[in-house]
Amino acid sequence: YFMIIFVISRLLLTLGKSKPWISSVIPPILSTKDIGLHKLRGDPEAIKLASTDFGHIVREIPLAVLDPSSTNDIVGLIKSANDLSVPFKIAARGHGHSVHGQAMAQNGVVVNMAALKTYRSGTGIVVSGDPSLGYYADVGGEQLWIDVLHATLEHGFAPVSWTDYLYLTVGGTLSNAGISGQTFRYGPQISNVYELDVITGKGEFVTCSVHKNSELFYAALGGLGQFGIIVRARIALEPAPKRVKWVRMLYSDFSAFSRDQERLIKINGRKDKNALDYLEGSLLMNQGSPNNWRSSFFPRSDHSRIISKVTEHKIIYCLEVAKLYDDRSKTTVDKVLQVLLQGLSFEPGFMFEKDVAYVDFVDRVRGGELKLQSQGLWEVPHPWLNLFIPKSRVSDFNAGVFREIVLKRNITTGPVLLYPMNRNKWDDRTSAVIPDEDVFYTVGFLHSSGFDDWESFDQQNKDILQFCEDVGIEVKQYLPHYKTQEDWMKHFGSKWRTFNERKSMFDPKKILSPGQRIFN
Ligand code: FAD
Repeated sequence: YFMIIFVISRLLLTLGKSKPWISSVIPPILSTKDIGLHKLRGDPEAIKLASTDFGHIVREIPLAVLDPSSTNDIVGLIKSANDLSVPFKIAARGHGHSVHGQAMAQNGVVVNMAALKTYRSGTGIVVSGDPSLGYYADVGGEQLWIDVLHATLEHGFAPVSWTDYLYLTVGGTLSNAGISGQTFRYGPQISNVYELDVITGKGEFVTCSVHKNSELFYAALGGLGQFGIIVRARIALEPAPKRVKWVRMLYSDFSAFSRDQERLIKINGRKDKNALDYLEGSLLMNQGSPNNWRSSFFPRSDHSRIISKVTEHKIIYCLEVAKLYDDRSKTTVDKVLQVLLQGLSFEPGFMFEKDVAYVDFVDRVRGGELKLQSQGLWEVPHPWLNLFIPKSRVSDFNAGVFREIVLKRNITTGPVLLYPMNRNKWDDRTSAVIPDEDVFYTVGFLHSSGFDDWESFDQQNKDILQFCEDVGIEVKQYLPHYKTQEDWMKHFGSKWRTFNERKSMFDPKKILSPGQRIFN
């Protein structure tokens, strides 16, 4: 009793008496025997962390933060919300690297997934194998991909599908898709999962896979946290290579650039030794150095001639590929690359090569992050826009968006990515939404802005979406952000019915991930 009164009064003191109904929400949580009182936090530090994210645009203040010490704590929390006629909302917070408050829960409870890591005592990432699946890692949903990389490499293995940046949680990226230069060949991360443990919105702990509770399995993958909290994922592994041949080629002509990208992703068999292992693309515009935080690649000595090219053409398109190898396959890799890159139409003399350790390649964004952190430029607003564009309209997108809106406004800062992927590497039964064409592109405007001017970037994002709407380019947002259910319905299109039915099935009281603003 003393403890309950102590915690409530602390919460009231911290959160202010402006929330008179707080006492009607908090006691049921506290009375749940399964949740230790010390794990529910209302201190300013915990609340502050849970009410911000990488975007630094949205701020939503939860009533409390749960530091779970076991998955049972999460079960207990969700069950206690379900016991109420008007349940409080709950959001899992992975690493909080969303940009529009998707992991927040205004007046609800945020589950700080990172706390689980402390309690796993070395069991958060376990590498095993069996004859039917091959090798895999059982990984806690709270684990960061960087830790998955290091833990699996110790056994000589690694996942095949990554994100560009590895300081994201497994649960966080699997709730979206998890894309990068490997996606054209291996599919997104959600195509490389064998099994999940999910705590549903009803508080049920369910193991699911393609063969077992498959509805929940597909719902949770790309499910934007709407159906359950992923607490374990079984991730496919392959033997890890040692090194990477990494090549960038510059184009001034968009159609040559996209034609070459599309040609290269045609060879995409998982076991095909003649396929590339990675393909991306980006835009160089008049932003000073051709390097940016996403990757420092071009040698200093070449900067001035690259910048001259950019000045001449206003936009230079950079095609980026990589091939992995180990010591024994070095000669073969050189030959495969030579054949693959033969006949590409990049600007003569503008091909750049690097040979790097595999770990450095996969973790290539970290260096840029640390540099920005040291300059105080990482914790700034990030008004990002990520889209999927059908291949048939990508040149219209180039003409109307890159060459018109972006060039004319001339405010774009940070990386702009553009690369294609193959639809057949995605599983349509998952919740992820992609365009209805065999090949589609992802474009990412990864803006950094000041605290007082993020709105002009946001306006540019809105104008880009409006332009697509006006000229009938059927883009789909990746890491989607909408404010009305009508927009969400449009986003999901024919998948909305299933998405909605799955919500009723697994989270009927609509408790989970309110920051996505789909059902509230
Ligand atoms: P959070 O922001 O914490 O959560 C995201 C959503 O998932 C929320 O709705 C949350 O409630 C829910 N959620 C979190 N954990 C769980 C869980 N265990 N179970 C169920 N739901 C959960 N994405 C790519 O695909 N490719 C990239 O290359 C890429 N690069 C990025 C680089 C940077 C610098 C940043 C900031 C983001 C990047 N992203 C990329 C986007 C990133 O994948 C998503 O924002 C992802 O959601 C972030 O993971 P997180 O752990 O921070 O999730």
